[in-house]
Amino acid sequence: MWYPWTPMDAWMAEDQLVVERADGCWLIDPDGKRYLDGRSSMGMNLHGHGRPELVEALVAQARKAGETTLYRVSHPAAVELAARLAGMAPPGLQRVFFAESGSTAVETALKAAYAYWVAKGEPERSTFVSMTNGYHGETLGTISLRGVNTEQVDMIRKTYEPLLYPSLSFHQPNCYRCPIGRTRADCAIDCTDSLEEILVREKGRIAAVIVEPRVQALAGVIAAPEGHLAKVAEIARRHGVLLIADEVLTGWGRTGATFSCAAEGVSPDLLTVGKALTGGYLPLSATLATEEIFEAFRGGVFLSGSTYSGYALGAAVALASLDLYEKEDVLGRARALAEVLTEELEPVRRLTHVGDVRQLGLLAGIELVADRDTRELFPPGDRIVERICTLARDSGVLVNAVPGDVITMLPSPSMSPEDLRFLIRTVTEAIRGVTGP
Ligand code: PLP
Repeated sequence: MWYPWTPMDAWMAEDQLVVERADGCWLIDPDGKRYLDGRSSMGMNLHGHGRPELVEALVAQARKAGETTLYRVSHPAAVELAARLAGMAPPGLQRVFFAESGSTAVETALKAAYAYWVAKGEPERSTFVSMTNGYHGETLGTISLRGVNTEQVDMIRKTYEPLLYPSLSFHQPNCYRCPIGRTRADCAIDCTDSLEEILVREKGRIAAVIVEPRVQALAGVIAAPEGHLAKVAEIARRHGVLLIADEVLTGWGRTGATFSCAAEGVSPDLLTVGKALTGGYLPLSATLATEEIFEAFRGGVFLSGSTYSGYALGAAVALASLDLYEKEDVLGRARALAEVLTEELEPVRRLTHVGDVRQLGLLAGIELVADRDTRELFPPGDRIVERICTLARDSGVLVNAVPGDVITMLPSPSMSPEDLRFLIRTVTEAIRGVTGP
């Protein structure tokens, strides 16, 4: 097998982790060894593994009908799911277009944004603006959004460069490594000035601004200062461009709100959801749009969609997941668990080689540095975070290493507070094991 995002030489040489079964937030290998999943299967898992409610919904739908496609046919599960999503989304997002993955939901949003401007008679609005080091998916369309980036992210861009369309980017709100050299005390979120500059300079050529609202998870949990998203939204509005909120990772309570946008009272023009939409059981995603955008296509057709768009099994499981989300107060649990996370992360800040600890809700990143004063990173050859993650894994905990020497964690809201404490304490020990006290 050829694995995604995996250096195959190293993978074939190492002792591979095989997950045969799972129980709640624990993954179990064929020998019965248990691993606490600190990354909730890349942000998918919402209610834990082995939930009978989700399994039953899947089986019940499969008994009624398998796939019937949404191509000029409808089915109750997708219709009901669309209504539920519109009811939960920030105000104004009343139209729901289904896809299968986060990447294809973002592709849909990009196509809808551009086609909207074409329908409005402004086809020259064909450029997208994103944040540096943002992550929006794997397709050529979504990796084209990587305007200016640091090293590893740039490797992706460099590799595929001739295939990508041009896009622009504005500064990410990285307060630990401020792109404009400010400190929090002397800053009014001035990194957004770079967005304003682009929109002034490129007047009439921008289709939309796309952001991961309030936190760039895969960039190393870059949690924006409060007010950042509202400021970005205000600038986009003032310049008459569309705003796309990519909530593929941030949706469903992980940031302390059902949708991260809502925490700053922002209603974007397009919003994407995926990953945990089915509780992580099946691949399903959606792009939500305002009535204004939908209306622009009424007389014509939105040239987009794929075979499995809004498939019945996925929609049925998503409905069951939303039932659990409400019945078990997942949002409340996520908020309470985030407080445990904050408490547990406090001592981590004092470790000699921890430069920064960032958190928004249940997303956390620990940035390792060779020198706390200069904030200099370890030499790449030291593979510091990979070694820490391997040590944590040997002790039964799975967390992610991302470029820039950041350990990232995104535990499921279904994790128990005791397990979360075990998670953070094991990671702390692993940091100590590799970098000292
Ligand atoms: N958008 C964001 C913000 C993401 O974090 C991700 C994946 O991590 C994606 C889009 C892509 O989703 P998928 O991997 O389901 O295509």
